[in-house]
Amino acid sequence: MVETNILRIPGPTPIHPRIERAMNTPIFGHRSQEMKDLMQSVKHGLKLSFGTENEVIILTSSGTSGLEATVVNATSPGDYVLVLVTGAFGNRFAQICEAYELNVHRIDVEWGQAVDPEQVKDYLSEHPHVKAVFATYCETSTGVLNRIDKIGEIIQDVSNETLFIVDGVSAVGGAKAEMDAWGVDLFVTGSQKAMMLPPGLSFVAVSERAWEVIEANNRPRFYLDFRKYRQSLADDATPFTPAVSLIIGLQEALMMFQEEGYEEVYNRHLRMKEMTRAAIRALGVSLLASDEDASPTVTSLVLDGVTSEELRSLLKKQFGLSLAGGPGQLKEKVVRIGHMGYCSPADVLQVISLLEIGLIQLGKDIDRGTGVAAAQDIYLK
Ligand SMILES: *Cc1c(COP(=O)(O)O)cnc(C)c1O
Repeated sequence: MVETNILRIPGPTPIHPRIERAMNTPIFGHRSQEMKDLMQSVKHGLKLSFGTENEVIILTSSGTSGLEATVVNATSPGDYVLVLVTGAFGNRFAQICEAYELNVHRIDVEWGQAVDPEQVKDYLSEHPHVKAVFATYCETSTGVLNRIDKIGEIIQDVSNETLFIVDGVSAVGGAKAEMDAWGVDLFVTGSQKAMMLPPGLSFVAVSERAWEVIEANNRPRFYLDFRKYRQSLADDATPFTPAVSLIIGLQEALMMFQEEGYEEVYNRHLRMKEMTRAAIRALGVSLLASDEDASPTVTSLVLDGVTSEELRSLLKKQFGLSLAGGPGQLKEKVVRIGHMGYCSPADVLQVISLLEIGLIQLGKDIDRGTGVAAAQDIYLK
């Protein structure tokens, strides 16, 4: 059989041939005019992806470095911060804050649910001097999308001294992002999720308010020092050698977003979410997140009677289809399907069809085609 590789985990995601071709462009010097032109050309598209007028820093490292860089640049030891934890990535943000000796307070939400903005409001009205609030836009470990717009509004109502720092990895590029309108001060994403690129870059958009804090902050830092990146950006450059080929790929990805139109990109992701959820429901399988909380980029289903590993290894072996397991205690119960980046309704229909086969082979009582038909119904609506 011809070897296939169908990658439907929530990152890394498949790469479009146009982007692959672009990344094969013979490399040029990182201090060349070509590089300056390239940096100039990706600026605008990056801003559109974050919904901001602010500059966006490009780091040569995975998403977590962007998270760590926000802490390194915008906080000092002992700062009182609030971390909203809805899953493994919220937990990671809290761990980074602890590693940098912040005074960390958390609101923990049951995994599979989004944080209730009212709870944030109550917390902040009792603790108005919180230095920063950290949140995860799409909690990739569960498939939940947090209400960054609402939380931002609440923070702005309570204090204009509190920074709002958001992990947008697996959301930015696939879910609407309105950094400026929502009052986000530091907004992070990575290259390998909805941004349609291979792993290796992290992007951080920084508000004016955040720059004031960053410029005044004495915490020691070097490679991750945003002040250096800001200075270089003014000159369409980076302070250190960037991943030139990935940035050439980024230019192509941003062009593709603009050709499709951001609204349509976000609508396509919403459609893929609806199709996936309708199919899972029709198959009689549970969904981890409620309709209200569900992310447009990743869907978690909760199995019963078969383990996540059984189903995933069967699909991988027969079809080369990769799906992800659950986080932490949900490892064996949950399967996560990524539907973001270079992914279309046609890909969703393929995944659902293969999933039906896997479930039937594992003894589930399912009528063939029920899930596919439910997804088709959503598409045809
Ligand atoms: C993937 C992901 C990250 C970053 O992970 P890296 O492996 O460092 O790229 C951070 N937050 C969320 C929400 C993610 O989905």
